[in-house]
Amino acid sequence: MTPRKLIQQVGIERSEAELLLAHLLEVDRGWLIAHADEPLDDHRVGMFLTQAEVRAKGEPLAYLLGYRDFWTLRLAVSRDVLIPRRETEHLVEWALECIDAGAQTALDLGTGSGAVALACKAERPAIRMTGVDLSQQALLCAKENSRSLALEVDWRHGNWFQAVPETRWDLVVSNPPYIAANDVHLTQGDLPAEPDTALVAGNTGLEAIEQIIEQAPQALNAAAWLLIEHGYDQAEAVTELLRSTGFQHVHTRQDLSHQARITGGQWLNSLTGN
Ligand code: GLN
Repeated sequence: MTPRKLIQQVGIERSEAELLLAHLLEVDRGWLIAHADEPLDDHRVGMFLTQAEVRAKGEPLAYLLGYRDFWTLRLAVSRDVLIPRRETEHLVEWALECIDAGAQTALDLGTGSGAVALACKAERPAIRMTGVDLSQQALLCAKENSRSLALEVDWRHGNWFQAVPETRWDLVVSNPPYIAANDVHLTQGDLPAEPDTALVAGNTGLEAIEQIIEQAPQALNAAAWLLIEHGYDQAEAVTELLRSTGFQHVHTRQDLSHQARITGGQWLNSLTGN
């Protein structure tokens, strides 16, 4: 069996089959094209077909490959972390703007694979970046990425701001769990295989965001920004939570599919002594 025939015949998307086969053979896509008609040994063919079958049954491609590209980084991912999403790159973009406006310390709450923290650190090496997660397993994954990418982030274990008590930040970013427990999306795509703790916040989906916003004022320096990724239908609720807590300049940004995706606000109250 040759790569060309294997990829044609296997019952998964062509681009995914190419990535899986290239990964298995430890070659790049160019090699597969150049050697498309050279027979592969039976053992490797067997391994590929098994992996393709697992993929066809719903295992996320990122977990089979063991990585997902995010921003400019190739991040190791395991079943202990959310697979980094394209839309979360907007959170990185906004965070970088805050860093460029003067933030020197930044905190990533619910860092998972470390995607947001590591992307910020890669782009702006001077930032003092901390990443927090409640899952020790997720932190292992983040630390592995930190090591292999040689990006220095202070990784802390714990529940939101409680992991870093008595510290104040110039910038806090988070892509927390924000899906409601009964949301039908949880049964679709990669989501059934991803950790519930990274996806599901509670019955309304807003529980984690509420906790973060409630705890934030004690942990923010004057003029600090809090940026939160949320569900496409949660912008109004998050805006209201930020405003009623005392945040100013609250506004929402859309993702590439024009869904309201990130809402942020600035904490100016400390300037007046509150
Ligand atoms: N945006 C993800 C999804 O809907 C969920 C990520 C999250 O809960 N933080 O697939």
